[in-house]
Parts: sequence; structure tokens; C-alpha cells
Amino acid sequence: AISERPGIGSRILVFVRLRPMAKKEKEAGSRCCVRIVNRRDLYLTEFATENDYLRLKRLRGRHFAFDASFPDSATQQEVYSTTTAELVEAVLQGRNGSVFCYGATGAGKTYTMLGTVENPGVMVLAIKDLFTKIRQRSCDGNHVVHLSYLEVYNETVRDLLAPGRPLVLREDKQGIVAAGLTQYRAYSTDEVMALLQQGNLNRTTEPTRVNETSSRSHAILQVVVEYKIKDASMNIINRVGKLSLIDLAGSERALATDQRTLRSLEGANINRSLLALSSCINALVEGKKHIPYRNSKLTQLLKDSLGGACNTVMIANISPSNLSFGETQNTLHWADRAKEI
Ligand code: ADP
Ligand code: MG
Repeated sequence: AISERPGIGSRILVFVRLRPMAKKEKEAGSRCCVRIVNRRDLYLTEFATENDYLRLKRLRGRHFAFDASFPDSATQQEVYSTTTAELVEAVLQGRNGSVFCYGATGAGKTYTMLGTVENPGVMVLAIKDLFTKIRQRSCDGNHVVHLSYLEVYNETVRDLLAPGRPLVLREDKQGIVAAGLTQYRAYSTDEVMALLQQGNLNRTTEPTRVNETSSRSHAILQVVVEYKIKDASMNIINRVGKLSLIDLAGSERALATDQRTLRSLEGANINRSLLALSSCINALVEGKKHIPYRNSKLTQLLKDSLGGACNTVMIANISPSNLSFGETQNTLHWADRAKEI
């Protein structure tokens, strides 16, 4: 299903994943405002906000269609297979790709990307699948897999596998790299889950809520697959593909200020990387020649993994509760925009 259309912008596949209603939301008397009727179509219902929830009136509804819409019963494996499996295949062919989870804080981004030990998410399933595929092909040539896991927080880049000082971005012949970033050589899936869980614990937390990951932190896992083989005339063929899996910062703040221009936001307390990503995606969607990668750390780091011949996948995460209606509506509008070509 992933196609490339050179010259007229890149095709971005856009998926929506609805998470189950949380206990807290149920206890607060939530009603479900999202309905997924088949594998594509989604209806968002706005209820009148009256205090007595028994009298909640249905105000209006809106229909959306995406490349796939996952109901709250979708498994991690289904989400992985539909959104990311083809990108893993492409990376083995030497192409780059990226998968983003986008949505408000609490909407299910980290669950989708990282998951839990019992229900591992896209990051872990992608690596597992990668090793399975490599094993199937191991008769020919030599694959080497390296992982890096970093955070962009407040325009500062940190190594999540070796926490310490901020890293400096440098431009070298491979593109823009974070100098000194750990490149972890992975041999199997087993070691990876623990590594990523530990890395996730190293993400920046809000000072007031020490146990919760900051809603402003972006986590980027990059999986680089290098493949070497000698052809018939003994020339060495070297093929490199890179898969970037990104657990984005909460979209609520960026969206709240979306209408203003970037300039007026400079001093304001917003997430520069998230806005810059939006600008790049807008430019790609419109088929523009100039893509403003330089505007943030996130977009610089992803320069070689967005647009061009790269496959880009967006997973928009949403809550079913009418208490999050505003955020859900914003997320769906953004996702709807990203899918337009
Ligand atoms: P975010 O990273 O977007 O802030 P989380 O991934 O941390 O949100 O999800 C918030 C809570 O909802 C977590 O407790 C998480 O385990 C739970 N959750 C999210 N998505 C699902 C899902 N599909 N199935 C079960 N629990 C989920
Ligand atoms: Mg999270």
C-alpha cells in the first residue's frame, strides 16, 4: 500500500488509533465520542456540555476516513503489521522511513510506540520482525544492526542509552548527526526491550511530577541496517537503510496556538520541534521544493528520513472520552491535513 510518487510530494500514510476508555474517564462520567465503523471510517460526535451527563445532547458529528482506523480492541501486533511492517521491509532494501505517534498527552503514544513488557509496541515489534527477516536472508551477505535512542527536550538533544550532557548536532558526510550518540550494536530482540524500557525511564520528567515523562519530550529510536555483500565480480555492495520511530511530545500545547505565526511564538512557551515538524509536513504535502528542516532539532535529525524517497507514517492517537473532545478534534484535523496530497 505504500507508494512513492516522485516529484509531487511524498505520500504520507495516516492512521488513527483509539485507546480504551480509562478508569478515571469512566469514573468522571465520560461518554464515548468516537465511533469506528469499519477499518477506515471514524465518526466524532460532539455532545453539549451539560453538567448532568444523562442529559448530554448530541450536538453534531463529523466523519473522517484514514488509511486505517484502529478501534480500541486493536492489538499491538495488528497496529504494527498495518502501519510499520512494510517500512521494515523497505529498510532492508536500503531505504529510509519514519513512523510518528502524534496526539495529546495521555492519548496512547508511548503505549503504541514502546508498549509494555506484556504488550510490546511498534518499536519492539519492528526490531523483532527485522531480526526474523534478517535470519531468513542470512545465507547471503552480512547484516549489521545499530540502534540509537535519543530525546529532544526543549531543543536539547540527549542520549537515552547513555544519559549525560546534551549532544551537539553536526553535519558530516552522512548528514546531520548527534555527536557522541551511542550506536548500540544489536544482535537479537531479547536484549532490546529492556534497553528501550530503561531508555524511556531516562526521558526528561516534569519537575513537579517526577514519575511522569514530560509531555514535551520527543523520543526517537533509530534503527540502522547495514548490508554488505560481494557481487559476482567481487565488488563490495554496501546498502544502508534507516528506520526512525518517534514518540512525539504531547500535541495539546502546539495545537492550542496553531493559528498564530511562528514568529509571534518565538518567545512563547511552545514546542518548537513539533511546530517545525508540522511545517515540514505541510511543505512536503504541498510538494514544495524547500522543506524547512533547519527550524528545529527534531526536523534536523529526521532530515534524511522525511520526504523524498522515504516512507512516512503517522499514527494519530486519541482518547474515546468526550472530556477530551477538543484535543481529539484537533488531532483528527491535523491527521486529516497530513493525509492530503
Ligand atoms: P501518551 O504517551 O500519549 O501520553 P500513554 O501511552 O502513556 O499516553 O497512555 C496513557 C495511558 O493509557 C497509559 O496508562 C497506557 O498504558 C494506557 N493505554 C494507552 N493506549 C492503550 C491501549 N491501546 N490499550 C490499553 N491501554 C492503553
Ligand atoms: Mg508518552
